[in-house]
Amino acid sequence: MSDHTMQRLTLDELRTRFHGSLHTQDDPGYDEARIIFNAAVESRPRLIAECTDVDDVRTVLHYARGNGLDIAVRGGGHSVAGASLVDDGVVIDLRGLNDVSVAPEARTVTVGGGTIWGEMDRATAEHGLVTTGGRVSTTGVAGLTLGGGSGWVERAYGLACDNLLEVELMTADGSMLRASESENRALFWALHGGGGNFGIATSLTFQLHPLDRFSIALLVWPKEQGREVIAEYRDFVESAPDAVGGGALYCTGVPDEPFPERLAGKLCCLTLVTYLGSEPQLRALLGGLLRHRPAGELITEIPYVDLQCMLDDPPGYRNYWSADHLGALPDEAIDRFCATAELMVVPSPSQHALLPWGGAVARNAESGTVINRDAPWVVHPLGLWEDPADDQRARDWAKATADELRPWMTGDVYLNFIGDEGADRIVAGFGRTNYERLARIKAAYDPDNVFNRWHNVLPAGRRSGVGA
Ligand SMILES: Cc1cc2nc3c(=O)[nH]c(=O)nc-3n(C[C@H](O)[C@H](O)[C@H](O)COP(=O)(O)OP(=O)(O)OC[C@H]3O[C@@H](n4cnc5c(N)ncnc54)[C@H](O)[C@@H]3O)c2cc1C
Repeated sequence: MSDHTMQRLTLDELRTRFHGSLHTQDDPGYDEARIIFNAAVESRPRLIAECTDVDDVRTVLHYARGNGLDIAVRGGGHSVAGASLVDDGVVIDLRGLNDVSVAPEARTVTVGGGTIWGEMDRATAEHGLVTTGGRVSTTGVAGLTLGGGSGWVERAYGLACDNLLEVELMTADGSMLRASESENRALFWALHGGGGNFGIATSLTFQLHPLDRFSIALLVWPKEQGREVIAEYRDFVESAPDAVGGGALYCTGVPDEPFPERLAGKLCCLTLVTYLGSEPQLRALLGGLLRHRPAGELITEIPYVDLQCMLDDPPGYRNYWSADHLGALPDEAIDRFCATAELMVVPSPSQHALLPWGGAVARNAESGTVINRDAPWVVHPLGLWEDPADDQRARDWAKATADELRPWMTGDVYLNFIGDEGADRIVAGFGRTNYERLARIKAAYDPDNVFNRWHNVLPAGRRSGVGA
């Protein structure tokens, strides 16, 4: 059905056809249905439609389009830009589409379009199987994967999207299609980092990997040791096997393991080393880092699924995040990274992170993927705060990080890690050539730019502006 033949349903007609819950602004459940991870986002949709099945998704899509209303698709609600809400428009909430079905023999899993990582990780763990997923359990599988999908085991298994076998997608006219290596291949390519620009993924199938043993080392130091430790960490990771993942970051110490009591409430430097193997094997790799005498440590074998929810961020904070790819991390860059860490508001849940890419992430660079992957490091300031009066301060901090590290920045950015930083950053994120290819695919599958809330790729031939 094309746009002009789309039925114009009234709200009453929608109510009789829709199986899930509908929340208008005067509905008692509206405020709760509107909560997303970033409390700084204040958009007030006209309608929030909590879908229970694919028919619901199609019905509400028709309702919104037939009435000329803007659309936001909601999965885990973790877009820091607030892509899952839209002022005066319709939210297509997919959280009810969260079936998870594991095929242990084939080592695959199929999940509904509103599944969150905790639901998927728990189901695959029962079979000793994993794939790269987000670093907290409440993020949406589809939102994260369609944007690329960076996670702790990416250096071994690639980004989440590298493990994608098939996507069932509802396009802007309500029709369903399948994208895979053998069907709609150009679209399938675009779904490896092009985000929610092309339609609504109602189900996704992933390749899984057997995981026998998994270990982590969480090592904590006072901020004064940050420079020496991060330099050691850089040298360690740059020659580590792909089985090693993790990151180095600054954060506020908490009164809990592995932070010593004296560092609670203080700015700390932390390294997390994840390892696809046993604790003794991991310890043997850590020699250099341990020589810097951590003030606190937790080195242990744990179920992968436990790590996946260990760092779950508290909801309810205001968020401003940014990120950049770094082409190298010499000592001077580390000095500047540490200097910007010291500008963080402490205590707060904010973090200043350096994440190593390389390994399987970089190996896939040659296949011309949507995401530029050859950078060895990603710098990722994550500002979280409570008082709206601090909004500008958080933005200034992220900007200061970019200014300080500019000499080493490649110009690329992993878009899942940033909020709304304008159209130029979107083009930079994909690179001009990839952006233009995505724009041609967008013109084929969503010529009216119905799906425009995630970092928007404009359909080729369209000059500017968004809207249905
Ligand atoms: C606490 C936190 C931790 C994070 N950790 C990571 C991480 O480790 N690695 C990483 O790569 N990113 C991470 N992110 C970023 C995250 O991947 C992106 O913000 C992603 O868009 C979130 O998806 P969501 O479904 O949770 O969010 P939502 O806000 O619900 O969705 C964002 C957009 O994604 C698209 N989308 C969602 N579901 C679908 C669907 N089924 N079909 C089509 N489009 C869809 C839509 O355009 C939607 O507007 C994190 C974000 C937060 C807040």
